[in-house]
Amino acid sequence: MENEQEYLKRQLINAKRTFDLTFEQVGSGRCVTDLDGWIKEVNQKFCDIIGYTMDETLKLRVKNLTYPEDWDIDWEYKKKLFAGEIPYFSMQKRYIKKDGSLTWVYTTVTLIKGNEDIDDYLIGIVQDINSQKAAEEWLMNENEKLEAIVADRTRQLIEANKIKDQTIKELNTLKELLLKNATIDPLTGLYNRRHMLEKITEELDRTKRTHHVFSLILTDIDYFKDINDLRGHDCGDEVLQMVSKLLKRELRSMDVVCRWGGEEFLILLPETSEDGARQIAERIRKRIQNHTFFYEDMPFTLTMTFGVSSFKGDHNIKEMIKAADLALYAGKDLGRNRVV
Ligand code: GH3
Ligand code: MG
Ligand code: MG
Repeated sequence: MENEQEYLKRQLINAKRTFDLTFEQVGSGRCVTDLDGWIKEVNQKFCDIIGYTMDETLKLRVKNLTYPEDWDIDWEYKKKLFAGEIPYFSMQKRYIKKDGSLTWVYTTVTLIKGNEDIDDYLIGIVQDINSQKAAEEWLMNENEKLEAIVADRTRQLIEANKIKDQTIKELNTLKELLLKNATIDPLTGLYNRRHMLEKITEELDRTKRTHHVFSLILTDIDYFKDINDLRGHDCGDEVLQMVSKLLKRELRSMDVVCRWGGEEFLILLPETSEDGARQIAERIRKRIQNHTFFYEDMPFTLTMTFGVSSFKGDHNIKEMIKAADLALYAGKDLGRNRVV
């Protein structure tokens, strides 16, 4: 008949075996240490995690096994445990394996109070989370890569948008240039015949509606052929440019002046009677006559003849221009340098 003490001892051994078996089955490492961290007892799983044999493990200290960067946190927890501030603690940390590589574990450490026979000791349950950590790291890397790709695409989009904006700007400039080419005479910078016809058509429509009046002046440089012949074609070109400037200077902003042909200019004067137009033409005629032109430092003068026509209520555009043309040629016949 076994005595009660032996019975209890057997019960204890059984309980311990069940405890150990449970550990093996859940796949967790178990590590018992004294309060200085010397390893006193471990299961096989713990040895597998750190890559040491059982005998080797039992000569190790937790501090030497722990990756230095993780030790401070571990120690802070332990101090709280010893002070009785917490019943246990859990943390993720790295162990240095026997081969020098690092492995991630999740440990839960409890302080077990001893008695007069047994000192206080620590028991740690250790789970291998290395593959989980690797997966996390991989995920983080992938995330970073994805973020980089998104940032790159965003940059590319912004670039593409900039190029698009630039292209639109260039196209608009081109459009402006084309429009200018279609309306501007390149030598003098004045409007061309085509644009002038549009302007006269607009003015004719407006005048018919408002019952106002407007006038045209057609003017031509006298003996221009002689300037070309005497001083050269380049001088002729410069004269055309200079005359254009003088004409513009003499006119209001609402007036329109164009190069009608070779050395002929047509002026549109809105809201201007025939008398008014004749006065303006006379003023310009004098201005031109009194102007001294220079070409290669050689001074010379020239004159222009002017033909005026005004809207008479039943005029069409052709008839108005024809009337100005007839007046101009009458002026030429009468000896030039005059307004008709
Ligand atoms: P008129 O007093 O009767 O108008 O005589 P004119 O010599 O001015 O007239 P004509 O029609 O005989 O000559 C005009 C000249 O203008 C002939 C042509 O070579 C010249 N001409 C036309 N366009 C240009 C141009 O863009 N530049 C230059 N330099 N000359 C031009
Ligand atoms: Mg002429
Ligand atoms: Mg002419």
